[in-house]
Amino acid sequence: MTSDIIAPEDLKKADPVFGQLSFDDHEQIVFCNDKDTGLKAIIGIHNTVLGPALGGTRMWQYNNEWEALNDVLRLSRGMTFKSAITGLNLGGGKAVIIGDAKTQKTPELMRRFGEFVHSLSGRYITAEDVGMTTGDMDTVREVTPYVTGISESIGGAGNPSPITAYGVFMGMKAAAKYQYGSDVLEGKSVFVQGIGNVGEALVEHLTNEGALVTISDISQERLEEVRSKYGATIYGGNDIYSEAMDIYAPCALGATVNDETINKLQAKIVAGAANNQLADENVHGKLLQERGIVYAPDFLINAGGIINVYAELENYDRQEIMRKTENIYNTTLEILDNANANGITTHVAALNIAKERIAARKRENNK
Ligand code: NAD
Repeated sequence: MTSDIIAPEDLKKADPVFGQLSFDDHEQIVFCNDKDTGLKAIIGIHNTVLGPALGGTRMWQYNNEWEALNDVLRLSRGMTFKSAITGLNLGGGKAVIIGDAKTQKTPELMRRFGEFVHSLSGRYITAEDVGMTTGDMDTVREVTPYVTGISESIGGAGNPSPITAYGVFMGMKAAAKYQYGSDVLEGKSVFVQGIGNVGEALVEHLTNEGALVTISDISQERLEEVRSKYGATIYGGNDIYSEAMDIYAPCALGATVNDETINKLQAKIVAGAANNQLADENVHGKLLQERGIVYAPDFLINAGGIINVYAELENYDRQEIMRKTENIYNTTLEILDNANANGITTHVAALNIAKERIAARKRENNK
């Protein structure tokens, strides 16, 4: 039946969620609105077969709601596979809050967001992502227990970013071992794009090992700060993708490996913290492979943060967090070998293993 209210050319807009390109059998999408605090948020629950959907909340000034929706769809899906491949009993979820974290984030808005999270009774558990701090999660904790990444003083595991950075560093070393036959990064030129919470901690590991680190960020203040602390070189050009380098480490936002950048990339390895680095995972994973560039799958090597927050639910200690995060090295090497042996991309190899774990659990649950 067609509607006589909506014009035919607009009908496709009447199917704006399940029809999205990034929609991938997500279980539940929740739109949250509160006029008083100005909250506009979307919670995406992709899959809960392995456990409750856990994933951070991102606050970002999206250009429009389509962008926000697509981001939450892509990010929540990524969380499903991240937890699955890391061996955690967690499903995949994520939330986005539409707005400027610097000017629009208030304790009232965070508490109202927390109430929406609470209304899902634990199907979704939140944490911090871009634009969020541990303090914001503490505010959410005032209204719901379904939050991780809270301060150590109130029983949390603290800021996950240094652990994420350590995992990325481990994944990068594994990729170097695979590409160069040695995991020593001394003397290797590494471009770290985005030196926020994770990027800075990664720069520290890299400079400690003697890598030649170049940094880029949209914040001049951050660049000066990180340069003065670690002696990294600030990137002065305007096309980072065309620069000669050994390793490209995207640590800002996703989709930087795309149609425009892929043919320019000089790096031999792509390994970074950003989620969804491949704009189109089917197309760009294959193109990287054809160009002989080793890609350490993002959802595999940036799992340190989720390992850290999972400790809050499972009560394991810092030693166990570090052991699990260090193991990203072994898992990455296995995935790179697996991809090579099967003639598939590293992204697909990682995805296959994650999907198989979910399918096996589903079979078990249905017995
Ligand atoms: P952050 O907000 O602290 O840092 C992001 C940095 O990137 C900021 O300094 C920002 O100025 C910079 N930036 C933004 N756009 C840029 C651009 N176009 N070019 C260069 N720099 C740019 O975020 P974070 O916590 O460090 O996370 C970084 C990335 O890693 C995100 O994609 C996040 O989703 C992902 N990630 C983070 C964690 C974690 O534990 N924090 C875990 C897994 C994945």
